[in-house]
Amino acid sequence: MSNAADLVDGFGRHITYLRVSVTDRCNFRCTYCMAEHMTFLPRKELLTLGELDRVCSAFIRRGVRKLRITGGEPLVRKNILTLFQSLSRHLRNGALDELTLTTNGSKLGDYAEELASCGVKRVNVSIDSLNPKLFKTITRGGNLDVVLDGIAKAEAAGMKVKINTVVLKNTNDGEIEDLIRFAHSRGRDLTLIEVMPMGEIEEDRVDQYMPLSDVRARLADRFTLKDIPDRTGGPARYVHVAESGGRLGFITPLTHNFCESCNRVRLTCTGTLYMCLGQDDAVDLRTPIRESDDDEHLDSAIRAAIAKKPKGHDFLIERQTTTPSVLRHMSLTGG
Ligand code: SAM
Ligand code: SF4
Repeated sequence: MSNAADLVDGFGRHITYLRVSVTDRCNFRCTYCMAEHMTFLPRKELLTLGELDRVCSAFIRRGVRKLRITGGEPLVRKNILTLFQSLSRHLRNGALDELTLTTNGSKLGDYAEELASCGVKRVNVSIDSLNPKLFKTITRGGNLDVVLDGIAKAEAAGMKVKINTVVLKNTNDGEIEDLIRFAHSRGRDLTLIEVMPMGEIEEDRVDQYMPLSDVRARLADRFTLKDIPDRTGGPARYVHVAESGGRLGFITPLTHNFCESCNRVRLTCTGTLYMCLGQDDAVDLRTPIRESDDDEHLDSAIRAAIAKKPKGHDFLIERQTTTPSVLRHMSLTGG
């Protein structure tokens, strides 16, 4: 039975946004996201594309209006287009407002037209540097030209592209002005992200961490930044940049509290539902999916999970702390 009010958590927040990681694998190894040598999950652990459709559809029946497909790199999952094709029925019948994805862009060129024909209107592409050499270093092997070509193809297919950049101290923090010009001159939003302490990596995140309050202060010397009230229910806050005429977002989970308006939950590729990016509270949805073809078990597991959504996160990056606040990598939960 469809009832949007079902997905209201214990703090009165309406859950209308589901992010789904469809794979933990990736063809890049960004230094802040993954270790160089990662052990990925055995394929049998993953939800099949059919199971992913089933669980997404269960959330949509309960009031989720926006779905973001992510990963790992979503476009490396075999036959991923079939998932977009099947989910697009919810756009056509009006149950879903938006079907979108976050990608590293390396395979966007191959999929852009088909994604657009599935009703994908917007795509987030991660670019941490416009310098091909630095891009290759940060991603441990990525090719910037291929990503730029993917963006061009997505735009040619009618999709709006937003650029995501993780700001890394002494790495790409000198490039933010270039990235603003690159994005805004072509009508794209740019969102800057602070490094989050998720998963073990080789580097110390204290060395990577750059508070966006510092970035903003520096930008304010060069640009006229005007706060705009756009809210997504997530950790992004936006400004309008007068000189470039575009929108700039700041995702600052470490320096701001955004939890009171949180409207989202995250599903991993193994069917674990995380109610908060920064907490370990999780509920297994794979068992109810596999136990029965009837969605009754699944629906009640989803309802119970939402009721347990924690009030907020407690990320912390400190010198003394050797283990990350959250042990799973972002690539498992999906950024
Ligand atoms: N592979 C795709 C990509 O890179 O866009 C989608 C998945 S990726 C995990 C989603 C977003 O999370 C990317 O913008 C990435 O830069 C960001 N990200 C990954 N690890 C992060 C971390 N530890 N802190 C902050 N952002 C992170
Ligand atoms: Fe892959 Fe995205 Fe993580 Fe980079 S940020 S390693 S592209 S999942």
